[in-house]
Amino acid sequence: MAGLELSKVRKSFGAAEVIHGVDLTIDEGEFVVFVGPSGCGKSTLLRMVAGLEQTSSGQIHIGGTDVTRYEPAERGIAMVFQSYALYPHMSVAENMGFGLKMTGYKKDDVDRRVKKAAEILHLEPLLDRKPKALSGGQRQRVAIGRAIVREPQVFLFDEPLSNLDAELRVQMRLEIAKLHKELDVTMIYVTHDQVEAMTLADKIVVLHDGRIEQAGTPLHLYDDPDNMFVAGFLGSPR
Ligand code: ADP
Ligand code: MG
Repeated sequence: MAGLELSKVRKSFGAAEVIHGVDLTIDEGEFVVFVGPSGCGKSTLLRMVAGLEQTSSGQIHIGGTDVTRYEPAERGIAMVFQSYALYPHMSVAENMGFGLKMTGYKKDDVDRRVKKAAEILHLEPLLDRKPKALSGGQRQRVAIGRAIVREPQVFLFDEPLSNLDAELRVQMRLEIAKLHKELDVTMIYVTHDQVEAMTLADKIVVLHDGRIEQAGTPLHLYDDPDNMFVAGFLGSPR
């Protein structure tokens, strides 16, 4: 398990700065949710934590180590995306094990980790199926399985449920909450769904135009929003 710290993190694309100096401390095992309107920088921030984007300036520490210039694979994190492109020609088991195989894990290790992830996600009966024979929820579970097999210390989710229908979203939300308890890991979860944020988070971070508007527990933000923006997003209607 690892905590995480962002210090003065900035990001520009060309001449345009989109993240304007973000400071944030995330405790070990915490479930942190990033919320904010489209384009406010949620994905960019997450991608910098993952190492898929470089910071323009500032530092990122994971578990006390400065990983700012580390490759994604060296950071002890795994990311689950909204568009969980599975390999159509591979079975569920192969999809989950592929990343490990490519990075040199032995077949025994891969098989053991896939089996364990399948148990956690109740995918055992589906291991030999191809993605086209799965429901949306099952596919999303396979995508999460691909992250679990890497046994990361930090999980990153970028709007993982936004392609699912309402009923399935509720079910998957409960599963992700359960996963957080079972694995006892740090999670950062991006969503623009207030219900997801309020129910999943230990801490909510409200982003607005590349800055943190306010961070705190769901209850704190709901009861005592700092400003109209936060109130509009999460605050109590008073
Ligand atoms: P969110 O995930 O909150 O919707 P993003 O992090 O995707 O927001 O985007 C934040 C801002 O950065 C937006 O203005 C977006 O257009 C811009 N942006 C994101 N990625 C790139 C990129 N690769 N090149 C140029 N601009 C980008
Ligand atoms: Mg995004």
